[in-house]
Amino acid sequence: MTEPVQDQYRVLFEHSADAMLIIDGGRFIDCNEAALRMLGYAVRADLFATHPSQLSPPFQLDGASSYDKANEMIAIAMERGSHRFEWIHRKRDGTDFPVEVLLTPIPAGGRLLLHVVWRDITQRKQSEEQLRLAKYVTDSTSEGIIVTDMDLRIIEVNPAYCDLLGYDRDEVLGRNAGFAKSGRHDEVFYQRIWESLNQAGNWQGEIWDRKKNGEVFPIYLRLNTIFDATGRPCYYTGLFSDITHQKRTEEQLEELAFNDALTGLPNRALFHQRLKQELTRCQRHESKLALLFIDLDRFKHVNDSLGHSNGDTLLIEVGERIRRAVRSVDTVARMGGDEFTVILLDLNDEYTVTDVATKILAKVIHPVWIDRHEIIPHLSIGISLYPRDGESVDDLTRHADMAMYHAKSEGGDRFHFFQEEMNRESGRRLALENEMSVGLNSGQFVPYFQPVYELDSGLLVGMEALVRWQHPERGLIMPDEFIPLAEETGLIIRLGYSVLQQACRQVKQWVDEYSRELYLAVNLSARQFHSSDLIEQVRRILNESGFPPGCLTLEITESMMMGRIERTLNQLTQLRAAGLNLAIDDFGTGYSSLSYLQRFPVNTLKIDRSFIRDILTDRNSRAIIRAIISMARAMELDVIAEGVENTDQLAYLKELKCQKAQGYLFSRPLPADQFAQLLADGGEWHRPVGLPCR
Ligand code: C2E
Ligand code: CA
Ligand code: CA
Repeated sequence: MTEPVQDQYRVLFEHSADAMLIIDGGRFIDCNEAALRMLGYAVRADLFATHPSQLSPPFQLDGASSYDKANEMIAIAMERGSHRFEWIHRKRDGTDFPVEVLLTPIPAGGRLLLHVVWRDITQRKQSEEQLRLAKYVTDSTSEGIIVTDMDLRIIEVNPAYCDLLGYDRDEVLGRNAGFAKSGRHDEVFYQRIWESLNQAGNWQGEIWDRKKNGEVFPIYLRLNTIFDATGRPCYYTGLFSDITHQKRTEEQLEELAFNDALTGLPNRALFHQRLKQELTRCQRHESKLALLFIDLDRFKHVNDSLGHSNGDTLLIEVGERIRRAVRSVDTVARMGGDEFTVILLDLNDEYTVTDVATKILAKVIHPVWIDRHEIIPHLSIGISLYPRDGESVDDLTRHADMAMYHAKSEGGDRFHFFQEEMNRESGRRLALENEMSVGLNSGQFVPYFQPVYELDSGLLVGMEALVRWQHPERGLIMPDEFIPLAEETGLIIRLGYSVLQQACRQVKQWVDEYSRELYLAVNLSARQFHSSDLIEQVRRILNESGFPPGCLTLEITESMMMGRIERTLNQLTQLRAAGLNLAIDDFGTGYSSLSYLQRFPVNTLKIDRSFIRDILTDRNSRAIIRAIISMARAMELDVIAEGVENTDQLAYLKELKCQKAQGYLFSRPLPADQFAQLLADGGEWHRPVGLPCR
């Protein structure tokens, strides 16, 4: 062992935090505590017994032997006086760690000692690696990154940022970070960002920026404040994500959610949103607005007869025609089905609701050719006005809808403004509907009976059952007041069968009591006639009451038989097969041609009372009555004249050999007990017949 240089140096050597070793002739001859600790040796002798080359992991030798490598380093150190380089060492337990080596050759007494200092640089290496990684990440990320100083001067950007905005790095370094403002946001917007950045240290949200080429595009921006070790803010960072694509998808989704797929018009949701917005605007500016509710008439018929795809074509065309009738600032929406709405804005003297509604009617009502069919769309328009008819979306829509129904009930192809009465009317209808349902369950609906006489003999041969509502508070209510509503709500079906049942029971009782044949006629509603269980229901009632089917006549109107001929025919045939009779009610008011009639297995025609009423005054009516009677005779049909009120009418009918009649002249419809009295009295009509008229 060589002599220690000097004691104090020995102390320094021993206590240095860096590892220090002396190599003599390729062998360790001295080392300090730090060296032992660093390499994981317990005693010096073990280390001294290890050759220096064994302390290097083989992978860093690059194929060269450790001697070569070590000699190369030593040569450099000799040449320069010392050599500092990085190296990797292997501990005794086999783990590797990076060191910085300072190699100093010390000539001592003709020999060459090597003084070696190792500094563990694991930590430095780690942070270097982290930095390298960080740079790799920032360089390769698709998010733009920007770093500014506290004055918002840009001090660093990554390549993605440059790509995003189309600038070179040099063009942006040193500039104020606000240089790419799009102009789409106001000052308040930027102020808010500042406030958040200063108070919370960050901000994130959507913002529009401008590229070098002028294009404005949406970004999701995350801003952060970076603090130094003392907690003072020193940088701002910004993370930019291009959300152009996302925005577009959002818009597309929005479009799907807010547009009607068939017509491309705004849908119900968008209509609601728009109307709400416009109402707020109107409130602010005290302006007016009109809402049009449009419904196609008889659209179902088109759909049923020409098929759905043709129905769709018609809807598209109608939507387009409505759109062309209004200005582009007005909203035309499809609410679903065959319902459209229009919001009219900025009404003034030149642009009035009446004009627009008239124009829509004119534009829509002319032929469309679909699949070689000529179809003329028909429509009804209801109108409500803001603020007169309501201030909310709901009120205005409801009122326009009511007005539309009004227009429809008047025959369609017209428009109607909402009126306060409609509100009361609809409230009344709702109440009526409820009351009807209750009334049905508690037997308030009863048949009255109007006798039918044979004109030749003056004998009572039968009766027509006509329903009456015995309302506990309002007294007797006539069918005209509730039948239409019952039709609409569907209550008519229960109502109809209830009347049929009561009438059959009652008349059966009279037949038995007075042992005479009596013909009972009962009216059938369209709904009943078209329902699939009609035959079943009628059979059930006949069985249950014991009423002979051959004495029952069901009255249907011409309009009920129009349209689906095959189905109608089938229905009628089945009823006839069950032994019933069929009468066509209100005959003459429909459009039945003779040939049309021949196809249907009916027994009786009932001449509508409007012709009877006009017998004395209208030649036309007389001609029609004459034609009906002779036609019926030719076809071997029974004829009943309705609404005979005076003897002149009766005389004329007798002259034409009309077989039967009913009317106020003979009797009004009577409640059961009064009708029973009539039967008890013999059921003959004795009043003298007046002079026949020409
Ligand atoms: P409808 O079947 O044409 O019935 C004849 C209507 O003429 C009855 O009106 C009857 O009271 C009335 N009437 C009879 N004789 C005369 C007359 O000499 N002069 C005048 N001006 N009118 C006369 P009502 O009872 O008010 O019934 C009206 C309509 O309601 C009926 O017309 C029928 O369509 C319907 N209806 C009545 N009961 C029922 C029913 O049980 N079921 C169905 N579905 N409809 C019914
Ligand atoms: Ca009738
Ligand atoms: Ca009638």
